[in-house]
Amino acid sequence: MPAQEAGIDMINQIEPNIDGYEVEAMNNYLQSGAWLTEYDRTTEFECKIAEYVGSKYCVVVPSGTVALAVALWACGIGYGDEVLVPNYTMIATPNAVRMVGATPVLVDIEAKSLCMDLDCVWSLSEKTRAIINVSLNGRALDMARFQDFCTANNLTLIEDACQSLGSFHNGRHLGTFGDIGVFSFSSPKIVTTGQGGALVTDDEGLYDKIRKLKDWGRDGSDIHNTLGYNFKFTDLQAVIGIEQMKKLPWASGRKRHIYQVYESQLSDVFEMIHGSNESTPWFVDIYLDNPTVVQEHLKENGVGSRLVYKPINEQKIYADGKSYPVSKRFSHRGLWLPSSVNLTDEQIINICGLVKQKGLNDG
Ligand SMILES: *Cc1c(COP(=O)(O)O)cnc(C)c1O
Repeated sequence: MPAQEAGIDMINQIEPNIDGYEVEAMNNYLQSGAWLTEYDRTTEFECKIAEYVGSKYCVVVPSGTVALAVALWACGIGYGDEVLVPNYTMIATPNAVRMVGATPVLVDIEAKSLCMDLDCVWSLSEKTRAIINVSLNGRALDMARFQDFCTANNLTLIEDACQSLGSFHNGRHLGTFGDIGVFSFSSPKIVTTGQGGALVTDDEGLYDKIRKLKDWGRDGSDIHNTLGYNFKFTDLQAVIGIEQMKKLPWASGRKRHIYQVYESQLSDVFEMIHGSNESTPWFVDIYLDNPTVVQEHLKENGVGSRLVYKPINEQKIYADGKSYPVSKRFSHRGLWLPSSVNLTDEQIINICGLVKQKGLNDG
């Protein structure tokens, strides 16, 4: 009998961690004469993010996708321009490039980190303007190489660090190596406000452009010298976000611990990608021959999981007739296992038992 019919609680692949702190903060806020839209709570949330990641400026917007598009706009990238993106990422990365009218150019990934492999950049044209490096699952191997590559080729470096809050590289937070770094606060992310995104930068000029882009180009009360739209946040979200940021060091510790427990049970028999000790694995990903069979077996036992992203070039709108062997190999074999911060070690060990039952016997 399927677990749910048997009345067993399903373990979700991921769920947000909302507790009494958010409830109390929201109550207090709503009783304080709230205007709901972005104001001082939003500023406080932005300051908390900037402080945590160590950037000078932070601006929040309605989603990570919008944050990527705003980053490209702020850097002057649009029609006729090309932007390098990894072939294994969430669809939002190339879609944001399309949103500003530019063309994403796909690049294969490296097996060690599952991030863009600069050795696979086949050709740069005079149209190539930027790289979006995605630190997938908080992993990054060599950010200095990306910086050097971009400097040498006169490219803008944007970091899609949507999965990387809590992840560092050589002591620096991911998202702070490029011209602009982007984070997401959608509900599966380690810090969530339901939906939401942030841009961080140390460049005052870019900060000024970003602020204007999200506020109809406003320059003084109702003066509009440049084009802009409405990509504002709400204090309603910020109230949640502030509480979530307070819990981030704890949540990051939990994620690292959870990954380690899975690793201790599974890494001998399945392929796992060990990031550095500075990364916070957001989702637990394993690579095996029969992910769909294991997923079905988990589901029958009340355990949620999710197949990893398809390679971008296998999505209809990005088919380009080229081959990307490393992204293909990983994305056809990957499975995300339950990764919520409140999982117990006992639950994880049970889940690993189920994974081994099918993952080993039913290849
Ligand atoms: C979540 C995510 C996004 C998109 O963020 P949204 O807030 O959902 O728009 C972009 N890139 C990556 C790598 C993500 O994980």
